[in-house]
Amino acid sequence: MKTKIIATIGPASSSAEVLNKMIDAGLDVCRLNFSHGSYEDHLKVIEVVRSLNITKDSMVALMGDLQGPKIRLGDFSCENILLNEGTRILFTTQKMVGDASKVYISYASFAMDAKPGETILVDDGKIALKVISTNGIDEVLLEAVNEGLLFPRKGVNLPETSISLPSLTTKDLQDLAFLLDQDVQWIALSFVRNASDIIELRKLISKHPSKNKPRIIAKIEKPQAVADIEAIVAATDAVMIARGDLGVEVPMQQVPMIQKKIIKLCHKMGRPVIVATQMMEAMINNIRPTRAEVNDVANSVLDGADALMLSGETSVGRYPVETIEIMERIISQIEDYDDIYYQHQAPANIDDVRFVSDSILFNACEMAKQTKAQAIVVVTHTGYSALRLSSQRPKANLYIFSNNRHVLHEMSLLWGVKGFYQEDVDDVDKLMETINGILINKGYLKKDDLLINVLSTPAWSKGASNTVRLERVS
Ligand code: PEP
Repeated sequence: MKTKIIATIGPASSSAEVLNKMIDAGLDVCRLNFSHGSYEDHLKVIEVVRSLNITKDSMVALMGDLQGPKIRLGDFSCENILLNEGTRILFTTQKMVGDASKVYISYASFAMDAKPGETILVDDGKIALKVISTNGIDEVLLEAVNEGLLFPRKGVNLPETSISLPSLTTKDLQDLAFLLDQDVQWIALSFVRNASDIIELRKLISKHPSKNKPRIIAKIEKPQAVADIEAIVAATDAVMIARGDLGVEVPMQQVPMIQKKIIKLCHKMGRPVIVATQMMEAMINNIRPTRAEVNDVANSVLDGADALMLSGETSVGRYPVETIEIMERIISQIEDYDDIYYQHQAPANIDDVRFVSDSILFNACEMAKQTKAQAIVVVTHTGYSALRLSSQRPKANLYIFSNNRHVLHEMSLLWGVKGFYQEDVDDVDKLMETINGILINKGYLKKDDLLINVLSTPAWSKGASNTVRLERVS
């Protein structure tokens, strides 16, 4: 399968037994959601995944998802609060146990940032409130736009407010330090507003003494991020279309086109892109997805996502393994259609410092298309070649060899990439013979198949790709 599967790990999936089955079913990346769970819980999952990767010789990646400036209501003295259309209620930034007249909101500068007339959404948009007035210090008077029940600790979205909260909260900084100590491959940042949020996170990562630096995923879930998308894609290593919050923060009918546009942009700019949330939501409780969900998964594959992400389906759902099995079946069916291949990347830019390698990688895919080669095989030290090749969506299988396990695991998120560990060999011919031999022995290549090797020569230089070789397996 070319399209990858990311599963959020939670109580339903954190045991070695379930994780083992999920990997067998096609799981590529485990997402640790730092909005939930203790460090102890996350550490257990990290250890289980690491040990399964060793025993199963799998390359499952670890993604830490930072909560970001998520805003929530506080506790209530009652079970819930009934709001009718027109009911007025105060939101305070002073910690308190809420009641029908006043509730706490975890956003210290809310009264400074909110403007009369702005809309506030609670509980995934189930309740909309309008700002009537603010005292500019700690209290905002709101009026309910629709009838509904307000529950304690629910999330709050403020799509129209220019939020002054820092992109990384104190909790995020602690979580980040934990994740860097654990050497995970990917860090996702929630509620990204602009490219500087990514640049700031990258600075923090580079300051940490860890040897392997995780790559960054920008979660697109705010209208400000959609407006600044080109700069964000340029600054980040990968993108997640986080449709849960996005569909609350922008009118939900805009999400399908935003998904298509962001995926196109990511292809053009060579960034992996993930489609997330409610892909198989019905399978939290049912053994089968809805027909609409099957269509959503299929359309996301057709749009060209690198990876599809499961949330509640695998973290708390009743059928985590079956969800992955069914998702794999849908992906496999859609990948039979030729429309998804070779349609995306622009040729290399002659003014770019990486022109030679970009051009080699681009043309390796062009050659694969023209010759109908079975495989493109590349040796990579940083993962760059894998990223470029994958974003061109070759129909040829993409096999990457590296002596860096961190890079191999990282690349598991990428469309079409299958990784193999390989010690360095100082002679190009010997190296090619070894890695092509591995693919033949493992049954990935057979006699008469055409294969394309992408190399950097001389072998010991570990430089950028500069050679393409076409060969028929004898
Ligand atoms: C989303 O909102 O779609 C999402 C992936 O983020 P989270 O699960 O952290 O709310």
